[in-house]
Amino acid sequence: MVNGVDTDTQELVELLRDRVKGPIETSLDVCAHCGICADSCHLYVGTGDVDQIPSARAQQLERVYKRYYTKLGQIAPRLVGAQDLNEEVLDRLQRMAYQCTLCRRCALYCPFGIDNASMVAVIRSLLADAGRVPAGLEEHTNNAYETGNTLAITDEQFMDRVEWFEEELQDAVDDDEATIPLDKEGARVLFVPTPIQIMRFPSVIISAAKIFYAAGEDWTMSTRRFDATNFGLFSGEEEKRDEMSQRLVDEMERLGAEVLLLSECGHSYWSMKYAAETWLGKPFPFEVKNIVELISEYISEGRIKVDPSVNKKLVTYHDPCNLSRKGGLLEQPRACLEAACEEFVEMTPSGAEAWCCGGGGGVIAIPEYDEVRLNAGKPKADQMRESGAEVVATACDNCKLQLIELAEHYGVDVSVGGVTDLVADALIMDEKEE
Ligand code: SF4
Ligand code: SF4
Repeated sequence: MVNGVDTDTQELVELLRDRVKGPIETSLDVCAHCGICADSCHLYVGTGDVDQIPSARAQQLERVYKRYYTKLGQIAPRLVGAQDLNEEVLDRLQRMAYQCTLCRRCALYCPFGIDNASMVAVIRSLLADAGRVPAGLEEHTNNAYETGNTLAITDEQFMDRVEWFEEELQDAVDDDEATIPLDKEGARVLFVPTPIQIMRFPSVIISAAKIFYAAGEDWTMSTRRFDATNFGLFSGEEEKRDEMSQRLVDEMERLGAEVLLLSECGHSYWSMKYAAETWLGKPFPFEVKNIVELISEYISEGRIKVDPSVNKKLVTYHDPCNLSRKGGLLEQPRACLEAACEEFVEMTPSGAEAWCCGGGGGVIAIPEYDEVRLNAGKPKADQMRESGAEVVATACDNCKLQLIELAEHYGVDVSVGGVTDLVADALIMDEKEE
């Protein structure tokens, strides 16, 4: 015990001081007494849980901070609403932090320019230090850290899948020589998918390979790094997060590629494009791109041709928060869909203001939050229904998983698909010379 605080709590209290600083410290008090952005948060709108109003999170963090780092909080905690960092508070913080999807829609509507999700990141890192990462999320994170991928896919399983992808590619392009290049040194593009694509949504990889074939791209996949996700970002474990990013950087260096191409996965793009250079403290000597970005370049440069009459159903686009609001990829997926589909309709609102699907930030890996997740997805389910679309396309497999569940749960009559698949289906392949 030190000053009435046990050693474990003392360590957390010190971490609190280290983490609550700079813009977080200066924005806490404003945010704790505000609440303007409440109706912009799908989690609050969909669940009605007042603990999920962004300002409630700031208020709880401020209460604990005050208790240890303000004079009045130390002398007369009740008077200023300061609270001990006890088990009950840690439980509340855990729900508040790990149910938030880090979508940053609230930040868009904050008149003070405050990013509540950055407070969530602080709380998650504290909880991770306190050993309070929810079990499902921790399992995925540890799998990735220890085996190199979240689903612990073995090298043998990976090679079996690649062999099958290659057969599918050869059938699709009618060319027995078409390959999925592996570990090709000096290839221009290193394409890194995700474990869920390898096992559950393989069409994304096969479609991408078909598009690269048609575009004549010089590309490769890696046998060492076939997981672009970063669950360390979700769990709040910074060391693991940095290691996961560093592995991709090392692989780019080993193969000498110019472009790190991330598949239909929102957070892997955002983290490598906008955050990892800061985490690792160095600029990358390569470009980071998302697959929809590259496909839209192929279309605009005439490197591939598509026939929209192949995709006759009315299609809408769900903006993954990490690609659209946080990543700025607003026009590229739309350019792909407008070229490859006969009819396209927007959801309202869309683009940077689109509702989060409710399944991001790692929440989909936490089974005890399933009910909350589905309730939080109600604004998105309503949008899908109101659009009248028959197909909801998106460019993130995490979103896809959630949208499929939402459609089923809320009885919305749509199918969910990927932008890459729709473009691949509409590809016009050059006639082979006899
Ligand atoms: S994020 Fe901005 S708008 Fe939302 S509660 Fe905090 S200060 Fe208010
Ligand atoms: S980041 Fe998204 S889920 Fe989290 S509080 Fe803001 S709007 Fe809600």
